[in-house]
Amino acid sequence: MRTQDLFAAPAPDPITNVDAQRLQNLRAQLHRYAHQYYVLDAPTVPDAEYDRLFRELQAIEVAHPDWVTPDSPTQRVGGKPLAQFATVRHAVPMLSIRTETDTESSGAQAFDTRVRKELELTQADAPVEYVAELKFDGLAMSLRYEQGVLVQAATRGDGEFGEDVTQNIRTIGQIPLKIGASVRRPERPSPSPGEETGFEVPSVLEVRGEVYMRRDDFEALNEKQREKGEKTFVNPRNAAAGAVRQLDPGIAAQRPLSFFAYGLGEVTPAEQGGPAFGTHFALLQALKLWGFPVADQVECAQGAPELIAYHQHIAALRDQLPYDIDGVVYKVNSLALQRQLGFVTREPRWAVAHKYPAPGTTHHGPGHRCTGRAHRQAHPGGAVGAGVCRWHYGVQRYAAQPV
Ligand code: NAD
Repeated sequence: MRTQDLFAAPAPDPITNVDAQRLQNLRAQLHRYAHQYYVLDAPTVPDAEYDRLFRELQAIEVAHPDWVTPDSPTQRVGGKPLAQFATVRHAVPMLSIRTETDTESSGAQAFDTRVRKELELTQADAPVEYVAELKFDGLAMSLRYEQGVLVQAATRGDGEFGEDVTQNIRTIGQIPLKIGASVRRPERPSPSPGEETGFEVPSVLEVRGEVYMRRDDFEALNEKQREKGEKTFVNPRNAAAGAVRQLDPGIAAQRPLSFFAYGLGEVTPAEQGGPAFGTHFALLQALKLWGFPVADQVECAQGAPELIAYHQHIAALRDQLPYDIDGVVYKVNSLALQRQLGFVTREPRWAVAHKYPAPGTTHHGPGHRCTGRAHRQAHPGGAVGAGVCRWHYGVQRYAAQPV
């Protein structure tokens, strides 16, 4: 019996149109890259290349809506959970975030325009209030607390089913194993009912956030790997993903990981004594007061001009941050408006990821070329010139050679 190749292009469509053929090829290619990235933690192309192909597929599907199928990469989140871990079904799906294709400031304007249109606001209406955050380049995690005790940590997986990685996550010092009973009144720009007295920790609380590796921890880890003659990691995200999905918690404990909280999953409803947050900003403040790390750079922004200012401000700050970000995220602040805006297949309408232009593909000093296998695949021929390759950390030290 022949083994089925899961990533082979589907049988050709009777439509012999160029777009249809390209669509099939793009889907097969994106499925393969997503599997390497999400399931094997071994990407073979830079994110910018993946994003470019993804956008091309989206454009074909917009032009031919009847060609959209549920198994298209545009309709799915992440990758299937690994069978080695127990499977966790997320009570609230862990979705993706739409990426704004325009990486310039006008991308923020485009998002605000879409939100205002969806909410049927006119020019006479006040600006929409957003929360602007960093987009951490790690992997999404859902932490479940019952009666204030961490009982489960799960990866996003395919958004509906994730992997139970509780033992590995317990080794991250920044993640509280137990959270306190109550908090004082959170700071906030727009008070809403229920926020005056602060919030008790609800009996069920799922905290969503990003597990990541700081750059200095990543460099130190790769140094150790080199000393031991073991495989080094491509970048901090890849190292973090590998550590979280380690089958041996002892090894995971030796990999230095960090965490930032940015949202909630399932939470005891307000009518059963849970917190009645009115805004996303207020829930971030509560998370901070409950002891979760929340990035200092979270800001409220009124309308597109303040989103644009934030995008520019963070672009200037990006290289000084001790960890990688691949953009910023804008979220509508009012939770009532978020509910009104709702979701499309794999992403909420009330949030967008606004990335920065892809960095130059070179990272070697002038006159050097890369000999790393994965890097050659990413930048065929080996790139020459000055610059920083955010995709392929560490290659320069062990694999660059004079041309
Ligand atoms: P995404 O990573 O672009 O955005 C969604 C994720 O953002 C969330 O799951 C969350 O983990 C994260 N996030 C970080 N900061 C956040 C914040 N402040 N608030 C909310 N969420 C935040 O979406 P995705 O669907 O996971 O992945 C798509 C991206 O992954 C692509 O854009 C591509 O860059 C990369 N990718 C690369 C390859 C490759 O082969 N190189 C393959 C697949 C995907």
